[in-house]
Amino acid sequence: MFFSIIYIRFIAMDTGKEIKSIIKALSNLNRQRTTYIFSLVHGKPLVHGLPHNVFRRCGKNNCKCKRGLLHGPYLALSVNKSGKKKIVMVKKNDRDTVLKEAKRYQYYQKKLVQIRKINRETDKLLEKLKAITIKNYP
Ligand SMILES: [Zn+2]
Repeated sequence: MFFSIIYIRFIAMDTGKEIKSIIKALSNLNRQRTTYIFSLVHGKPLVHGLPHNVFRRCGKNNCKCKRGLLHGPYLALSVNKSGKKKIVMVKKNDRDTVLKEAKRYQYYQKKLVQIRKINRETDKLLEKLKAITIKNYP
């Protein structure tokens, strides 16, 4: 009888500790999630596509590019449209703006992936908490 009481108290303390650790983890995830979300809600434009530099040959026979000294770099965006990869050249005057907006898009996508991961972890922890605290009635 004495031993069973101790055993029950031990279980209860352990559960309390586990609940506290779940709450702490949820709080950390929530804080991180909020930081990520508010780093995205600035309303500034995002350009879809992966930026990269392109070097080209002009085709003139007496040009340096004929010897391998290619023209460029020119900024291009690699865009996936319904499964097809498309290269879009960026106008020289748009270069800085488009590069900034494309990087912003990359950042957005990266944060979205991290937010979704946090959502899944939060869901798992809430399910765990439910499993620990659920009670059958009567
Ligand atoms: Zn050339």
